[in-house]
Amino acid sequence: MILRNANIVTDCASYSSDILIRDERIVAIGEHLDHTGADEVDASPYLTIPGGVDIHTHMDMPFGGTVTSDDFETGTIAAAVGGTTCVIDFAIQSPEGSLVEARDQWLAKAVDRCAIDFGLHLIVRRVDDPTLREMRVLVAEGITTFKVFLAYPGVFMITDADLLRMLVTASDLGALVMVHAENGPIIAALVDEALGQGQTSARYHSVTRPVETEREAVARAISISRLAGEAPVYFVHVSSRAALDEIRRARAGGQPVFAETCTHYVLLSDERYTAPGFEAAKYVMSPPLRSLDDQAALWRGLATGGLDVISSDHCPFVFGEGYPGLPAQKALGIDDFSKIPNGVPGVEDRLTMTFTRGVAAGEITVNRWVALTSSNPARLAGIYPQKGAIVVGSDADLVLWDPTFRRSIRAEQQHMRIDYNLYEGMEAVGEPAIVMSRGSIVARHREYVGRPAHGRYLKRMVPAVGLARRLKEG
Ligand SMILES: [Zn+2]
Repeated sequence: MILRNANIVTDCASYSSDILIRDERIVAIGEHLDHTGADEVDASPYLTIPGGVDIHTHMDMPFGGTVTSDDFETGTIAAAVGGTTCVIDFAIQSPEGSLVEARDQWLAKAVDRCAIDFGLHLIVRRVDDPTLREMRVLVAEGITTFKVFLAYPGVFMITDADLLRMLVTASDLGALVMVHAENGPIIAALVDEALGQGQTSARYHSVTRPVETEREAVARAISISRLAGEAPVYFVHVSSRAALDEIRRARAGGQPVFAETCTHYVLLSDERYTAPGFEAAKYVMSPPLRSLDDQAALWRGLATGGLDVISSDHCPFVFGEGYPGLPAQKALGIDDFSKIPNGVPGVEDRLTMTFTRGVAAGEITVNRWVALTSSNPARLAGIYPQKGAIVVGSDADLVLWDPTFRRSIRAEQQHMRIDYNLYEGMEAVGEPAIVMSRGSIVARHREYVGRPAHGRYLKRMVPAVGLARRLKEG
């Protein structure tokens, strides 16, 4: 296939050229490429961008007595339709189990079901010698990122000493540790206090997770990374100005600290928790939505480099009775906010909503948008330039993006298997006109046209940051 007169937009440049695709890859980029027999696509009306890379999703994930409503099939179809051509999901170590068992369990859910290519991070719950030994095996086998929690005591939370051991081991291996930074014990105490006073409604989810619990955990993890010899660390879902300030300070001091925020933190604010009735449960995720001031700080961080990545943290739970065949999941917490499953949908909306509020509204350049939603996550996940780039040799994961298309967001038009949309009724600018995964067209104008099981499992390299560190140390 040949894309004629593509207006190529990468994380660092915009230029016009033809792109020749053969055997699932980009084989030539240049003007007036001659290739008789190739299918020609006139790409000139669109921007041609590398497919979106979403390194934070939770498909088919058990949580709080239920399971996220999108499985790997429906979730990756929704991703593809929205212009994302690669997701990295989280396999979870069971309390007694090994990391390899968790990896195999998640592979069984995902293999032959994905519409686009996918990889797995490993969530580590038990930091002991067998686990640390297994990390070495997994890095060699292409799992190079490990996530830990400073929140959810008794479920996921690890101790500070465990975090230190994790960071030392990971940085030796060139792997990257991803941290969910909220102070779990303090939040648990605030939740108990609220429930004890009869404050059970959904909005108390936000009240009991104040910004300071996030800032403190970010600062603590930065200190622990310093104790671990400045081990690289990646903060997932940063939501507040105060947390971002800690990250900026560490980076200014040369520490290898990386950070993501999520679509919902830069589009929505905590005013959503004032919604009547149980409506606020739709916005229960951790950390919660923050103030407009926090939102402005996050956009600044995205524009000027304090934040590296925008992910979806796609983690959908059905709200009402509105989805055929699925139970009302958020309702598990109708009488107790602490039982509302934490998480929101977003894998389908990430590119469009960040283009709308980021690029169309003038917060970030289109090149920075590509960096944040594709190239940087690919680098930090160890899949660049196979993904996240438009260069000779890259997988032909390409999106022909229509920057002028406008529509109003409607849950009934979405592919995500859930009965609400966070951005319902909002005006969206830009949409993927054609989405290609390894040279095959998988979506056209928000319609899925791919074939089942097209997506392949990605074995990943160590992230760019880990590699640089190893070279420095010889
Ligand atoms: Zn998450």
